[in-house]
Amino acid sequence: MSIIRQLPKVDLVLEHPTIDALTIRVPRAVVVGSIRSQIDQRRRRILSGDSDKSLVAMEPLVVDVVSDVTRRLAPSLVSVINATGVVLHTNLGRAPLDSEVLQEAVQIASGYSNLEYDLEARGRGSRYTHASRLLCELTGAEASLVVNNNASSMVLMLAAMASGREAIVSRGELIEIGGSFRLPDIFRTSGVQLVEVGTTNRTHRADYINAIGDQTAMLLKVHRSNFDMVGFTAEVSGPDLVEVGHTYGIPVCEDLGWGAIEGLDTYGIPTITVRSRVEAGLDLVAFSGDKLLGGPQAGIIVGRAKWIEVLRQHPLTRAFRVGKLTLAALERTLIRYLDGRAAKLPTTHILTATRSDLRARADALCTELLARKVDAEISVEPCEGRVGGGALPSTTLESWGVRVSPHNRKNERIDKLLRSAAVPVICRIDEHGLVFDVRTVFDTEVILLADAIDQSIATEE
Ligand SMILES: *Cc1c(COP(=O)(O)O)cnc(C)c1O
Repeated sequence: MSIIRQLPKVDLVLEHPTIDALTIRVPRAVVVGSIRSQIDQRRRRILSGDSDKSLVAMEPLVVDVVSDVTRRLAPSLVSVINATGVVLHTNLGRAPLDSEVLQEAVQIASGYSNLEYDLEARGRGSRYTHASRLLCELTGAEASLVVNNNASSMVLMLAAMASGREAIVSRGELIEIGGSFRLPDIFRTSGVQLVEVGTTNRTHRADYINAIGDQTAMLLKVHRSNFDMVGFTAEVSGPDLVEVGHTYGIPVCEDLGWGAIEGLDTYGIPTITVRSRVEAGLDLVAFSGDKLLGGPQAGIIVGRAKWIEVLRQHPLTRAFRVGKLTLAALERTLIRYLDGRAAKLPTTHILTATRSDLRARADALCTELLARKVDAEISVEPCEGRVGGGALPSTTLESWGVRVSPHNRKNERIDKLLRSAAVPVICRIDEHGLVFDVRTVFDTEVILLADAIDQSIATEE
C-alpha cells in the first residue's frame, strides 16, 4: 500500500515546467482533468498488484499527461486520403464538396442570413424557398423540398401521404441500404401498411392493379441502388407505374437514391436523371444530395406542388429540417449546374477523369516513391474502381493505380500504419501488396501519400 502514497500529488505535477508550459496553451481545467485521470489509472494498476516503481515517477507521468491532453483536444473526424477508387464512398463521407461552394457557404453561415426572412415582405420567410427555384428549373418539377437525407425523404413521403393506409411496393425492391435503412422498417416507422406485390425476380403491371384497394394511398417505386438483378426478371418502370396509378387516381412516388441532375452515360456510367422521372409524370421523386449530385448530405424531394405542400405541412418536416450550411452549399452546388460549371464539381470531375489524367497521376505517385527509395516493389498498373458504396454494382471505373509490395514486411502491417498516418490513408490490399487507385486521390495529395507510404514502410523495419 505504501507505494500509493508515493504517487505525485496533482499540485506538484502542475508545478513541473513542462506542465506549467502546457497550461499556457490549454485551459488549466483540461490539464488538471488529465493529471487526475493519469494518477487514477496508476492507482488502479498499483491496487491490482502492479509494483512497477515507474508508476510513481514524475517524468513518465508528465509524458503521459502531455500526450493525453493532446489526444483530448484533437478532433476525431479528420481528413483521410481515399486511395480505394470508390468515388462516393459512404464510409469516407460520400461526395467531396467543391471548395468554392464551401467558401461561399461558410460566408453565409459565419454571419446572419435571410434563412427564414422574407426580404421583400419584411417578415418571416421559409427556409424551404431557397434551393427550390433552382431544383424546379433543373428537374422540371413544380415544387421541391429539402430535408436532412434521403432516408428522411422516404419516411416523410410515406408518413405524410399514406399514414394509416397502404402503399404498394414490388418484392424485388424491398431493399436494405446499410443496416439502418431497410424498406420494411421505414414503412413501420412511417405507420404505413406495406403491401408487397410480385415475386423477387418478376413483378408485372397486373400485380399492382390486383393489389389496389380502397386503402391504397401510394404506389412506390424504389431504385435498386446496391444490387443488380439479371436473368429471368421483369419489373414495372417508374414511368409505366405512373400510368397504372393515374388510372386509379393513386399517387406514384419513386425513391431514385442515386438520381442525377445530368446524365453521365457518355462516360460509361449509367444514370437516371431526376428530370426524366419528373417528365414521366411521377408525383414525387426523392434522391440524395451527396451522391451523384455532388452536394452536401440532403434528401431532395421534387414533384407536384400539391404533394410537396402536404409534406411541408407535416410535423416530421420540422424534425428532418436542414441547417443553413447545408442549404447554402446545396443552392450553390445547384447553381453550378445552371451556369455550366458542373463538370468542375469534385464528384463529376473524379467520375469523369480521363485515362490519361489518371495515368499521369499514377506515374507521378510512382516517381515520388522511387525518389524516396522506398523498400518495396513499385509498379503502375491498370485497376478498377467503383462509383460508390453499393451504387451501380455492375459498373466499374477503369483507372490507374500504383502497386506497392513491401520487401520482408506484412502488407497488413503497412496498411495499419497507413491508417494511423498524420493524414490517414485508406487503400486496397491483396495478397501481392497494397494498391493505391489514384482516381480518388487529389493531385494535391500525391506528395502526402508518397510520404505516408514511405514512412509506414520505414517504421516497420
Ligand atoms: C442512398 C439511398 C437511400 C438513402 O439515402 P441517404 O441520403 O443515405 O439517407 C435511400 N434509397 C435509395 C434507393 C438510395 O440509393
